[in-house]
Amino acid sequence: MKKLSILGSTGSIGTQTLDIVKNNPDEFKIVGLTTNKNIELLKKQIIEFKPEAVGVMDNEKADLLKKDVDINVYSGIDGIIKIATLNEVDTVVNSLVGSIGVKPTIEAIKNKKNIALANKETLVTAGSIVMEEVRKNNVSLMPIDSEHSAIFQCLNKEINNDSNINNNLNNEIKNNEYNDVVNKITITASGGPFKDYLKEQLENVTVKDALNHPTWNMGNKITIDSATLMNKGFEVIETHWLYGIDYEKIKVVIHPQSIIHSMVEFKDSSTLAQLSLPDMKLPIQYALIYPKRLSLNIKKLNLTEIKNLSFEKPNFELFPCLKYAYDAGKIGGTIPCVLNAANEIVVYAFLDNKIKFLDIPKLIDKMIKQHNVIKNPDLTQILDVDKKIKEEAQKIIENKIEITQ
Ligand code: MN
Repeated sequence: MKKLSILGSTGSIGTQTLDIVKNNPDEFKIVGLTTNKNIELLKKQIIEFKPEAVGVMDNEKADLLKKDVDINVYSGIDGIIKIATLNEVDTVVNSLVGSIGVKPTIEAIKNKKNIALANKETLVTAGSIVMEEVRKNNVSLMPIDSEHSAIFQCLNKEINNDSNINNNLNNEIKNNEYNDVVNKITITASGGPFKDYLKEQLENVTVKDALNHPTWNMGNKITIDSATLMNKGFEVIETHWLYGIDYEKIKVVIHPQSIIHSMVEFKDSSTLAQLSLPDMKLPIQYALIYPKRLSLNIKKLNLTEIKNLSFEKPNFELFPCLKYAYDAGKIGGTIPCVLNAANEIVVYAFLDNKIKFLDIPKLIDKMIKQHNVIKNPDLTQILDVDKKIKEEAQKIIENKIEITQ
C-alpha cells in the first residue's frame, strides 16, 4: 500500500487524486494533505480520508482550522514542507501551483520520498537541482501531466526490456541513453481557446474567453498558460529534464482533439504514441501505480466516433511564450526561473484584469532581457532570482509602467 501526502489537495489535480484513492482503498492511504486556504474543503477531506496531519499555507486559515479538527495542523511554507516529509509517507503528490513547489519537492526527495509531480513550475524553475537530488537519493519522479505520462509510456517499453520492471528511469537518464535511441519527441497541444485567432482579435480577449479551454478542465493558472501556449513551453522544458533529451529533439504540434497525448520517434524511424480521451485521472493514476495498471472508469476512446485526428504547426508569432520557453531552456541557468517567475505574476495580473492578454508575453520578454543570467545556479540563487523577478514584475504592473518590448 502506498502512503501519500498530497500537496494542494483542494485543487483540480488534488481532488482528482483523492477520487482515485477513494476508488482504490487497498492501494493507497492518505497520510498528509495541504491547501492554500480552502479549509472548508480540506475539513471534508480530513473527515473522509483521515490524514495524520495537514498543512495550510495561509496562517489565519490554519488557526481557524485548528479549532475544528483534532489532528496536527501546520502552517505556511514550513507546514507544507512538514507534510511533504512526514515519516510515514513514501510518495508525495505535488499539485501545488507555481514555484512555491520547489522547496517542498526538494525536501521530500532529500527525505527519500518518491514524487508524483503535477507542479511543472518546479522543474522549469529548478530542473537541474531537482533531477540531481532525484539521482543522489535514488527516488523516482513520475510526471502527472498527460504529455509526459504519454512520453514515459512510450519510452518505458524501450528501457525496461532487459531490466527489472522497477522504476529505474532516472538511472537511464543519468547515462543519457535516450538521446542515442530517440530521434524526436513530439509534444501535442490542443492549441487553447485562441488557436485560430488573428493578432487583432487577441488584443481584447477577456479572462472569461481565456478560461474557456476547448478540451481540458483545469485550474485557472494553467488554463491561462494553455491559452498563451506557455504551458506547452513549460512542458518542453520539463521533457528536457525528465528524460534528458536535447531541446533540438523536442517538437510541439497542435492537435486540437487532445487524443494523442505525445509521441516518441526512435532512431529506426518507428513512432510510438499514447492515446486516450482527455482525462487527467489517467496520468494521475498511472503515476501513482506504475509499473502496475489498474482499471479506471473513464470514457473509452472510440476512433470511429472521433473520425479525424488533425495536426498543425504552432504559430510562434501569435504565441511568443512558446518561443520564449524554448529560448530560455536552451540558454539555461537562471533564465527559465525568470521565465516562470515573470509568468506567474503576469498571469495573476491578467486574471485580476490588471493587464491585457498580449501584455503577458511582452512583460515576460522584458524581464528576461533585463536579467543577467547566472550559469549553474545553486538553489539559494534560484530562489533569490525567483523572488526578485516576482517583486520587479509586480512593481511594473502596480505602477502601470508601460510595457515595451
Ligand atoms: Mn499537459
